[in-house]
Amino acid sequence: MISLLIATRNAHKVGEIRAILGDGFRYFTLEDFPAAPETVEDVATFAGNAQKKAVELARWVAGAQCSVFSVQAEPSFVLADDSGLEVDALGGAPGVHSARFAALDTGKSGNSATADNNAKLLRLLATVPTEARTARFRCVIALTPVTPGKVQVSSPVCYADEPELQTQLFEGACEGRILSAPRGQGGFGYDPLFVPEGFDQTFAELGEDVKNRRSHRARALAKLKAALKS
Ligand code: IMP
Repeated sequence: MISLLIATRNAHKVGEIRAILGDGFRYFTLEDFPAAPETVEDVATFAGNAQKKAVELARWVAGAQCSVFSVQAEPSFVLADDSGLEVDALGGAPGVHSARFAALDTGKSGNSATADNNAKLLRLLATVPTEARTARFRCVIALTPVTPGKVQVSSPVCYADEPELQTQLFEGACEGRILSAPRGQGGFGYDPLFVPEGFDQTFAELGEDVKNRRSHRARALAKLKAALKS
C-alpha cells in the first residue's frame, strides 16, 4: 500500500484529503512527525510553496531515516497542499496570503484567526456589488517521493533523482462568488463566505460530500489519484 505523508497540521485539510483519496492509502501527517521542520511559505505562487513544503519534508524524512517510511516495501510520498482564495475585485488577493490575510496589516507573524481573515475580506468588499464579487479557490498539490538513503543537497550538478525533479504538481480551481455575510457551519477558512458556481449555498452550508466532489482540492486530488494509479 502506498504511504502518504500529508504535509500539514491543518486537521480540516487532512480530513478532506483523506475523504477524497479514500482508503487505498496509508496516511501520516505532521502530527506523526513532531520534530519535522516548519517550512517558511515565502514563494509568490501556490505551486512554489507546495513544492517547497513537499521537497523539504521529503529530504528531512529521507535524512531522518524515519522507521515507518524506511521499512516500507511500497513507494512513499510527501503530499503538500498549498491553497487559497483569489478575489477578482481585489486583484487576486488574498491568494498565497490567504492564511495570514489579516496579519498583513498588523505585521504579526504566523497565520491569522479565520474570523479576522473573513472580517477583512468583507470589509474590503463592502462596496463591491454582487455581480463583481467573483472569486475562486485554487489548490496546488505537490507529490514528492521519499527515497531513504538518498539525500542530495542542491549543487551545481543536477541529479535526476533530486526531489525537486521528481516532484509532480496537480492543480485544481473552483469558481464562485463571495457573499456579504457568512452562512453555514461546515468546512473551514473562507467556506462560509464562498458560494461555488452552480449553487446558492456556501461550501459551509453544502457540507463535506458536495465540497469534496466540487472543490479546488477535490479537482487537484482527482488528477493526483489518476497519476498514482497509472
Ligand atoms: P495554506 O495552509 O498556506 O495552504 O493556507 C490555506 C489558507 O487558504 C487557509 O488557511 C484558508 O484560509 C484558505 N483555504 C484554502 N483552502 C480552503 C478551503 O477549502 N476552504 C476555505 N478556505 C480555504
